[in-house]
Amino acid sequence: MLLKDKVAVVTGSAQGIGKATALRLAKEGAKVVISDLNEEGISRTLKEFEEWGYEAIGVKADVSRHEDAQRLVEETVRSFGAIHILVNNAGITRDSLLVRMSEADWDAVIAVNLKGVFNCTKAAVRYMAKQRYGRIINIASIVGEMGNVGQANYAASKAGVIGFTKVVAREFATRNITCNAVAPGFIVTAMTEKLPEKVKETLIAQIPMERLGTPEDVANGVLFLASDLAGYITGQVLNINGGMYM
Ligand code: NAP
Repeated sequence: MLLKDKVAVVTGSAQGIGKATALRLAKEGAKVVISDLNEEGISRTLKEFEEWGYEAIGVKADVSRHEDAQRLVEETVRSFGAIHILVNNAGITRDSLLVRMSEADWDAVIAVNLKGVFNCTKAAVRYMAKQRYGRIINIASIVGEMGNVGQANYAASKAGVIGFTKVVAREFATRNITCNAVAPGFIVTAMTEKLPEKVKETLIAQIPMERLGTPEDVANGVLFLASDLAGYITGQVLNINGGMYM
């Protein structure tokens, strides 16, 4: 058990990478907070976790709202007495070529993917600093590192997350709080489901391992960074992409 008695919050964990991550952490003994916008999704996921015998609670929160992030952390501490691990996973896409990208699509992606990470980290780090222990893992993206046509808003948000990660790592290192990013390549989830088959084939042709990733591939990397095995690793970006970007 790598995370016995640890308390972990995973945002956007009703499905996809977030859900796989929450499950991976729970399997290692963590008490998990399933947080998402999607209330029905939270209930469904929570029911599964309870059936599997894992200790979990659900908190509906929109990470782009400062007060929701605050409440998420407060409810976690009230229920479990602490917050040791924060996985900033909630994210959205609103793709289009720059010339057609609306201001609303730019703002929406930045609000969730970048401001959401700021909101939740700021709320959590206060408690982590007091207890002199914390693990923050931000889910960035290969797109924040290499760019991708049609994703100016998304790439900017994820590159921003990488910069933010390095600042938090520096500011809180002496408090025994590590902050790292995980940059997944293309992973099979609802987010990539909407891509046309032709696009998926083109992507796979660019991946040395010749397959898209699974949510579990990402969850395993998050687990490592959340565990004490990674106690001397901070401010880093862990690429989980089948070799697509090196
Ligand atoms: P997903 O299946 O769409 O799941 C994202 C979850 O986040 C959904 O349950 C969604 O709820 C929730 N969410 C959206 N906006 C939110 C908000 N404002 N506050 C709280 N929760 C919110 O996506 P995924 O593929 O698992 O992606 C998870 C993370 O990995 C994202 O940060 C994404 O950018 C990143 N990532 C994904 C890939 C990939 O290939 N899939 C690659 C690189 C990075 P609703 O369903 O209600 O919107």
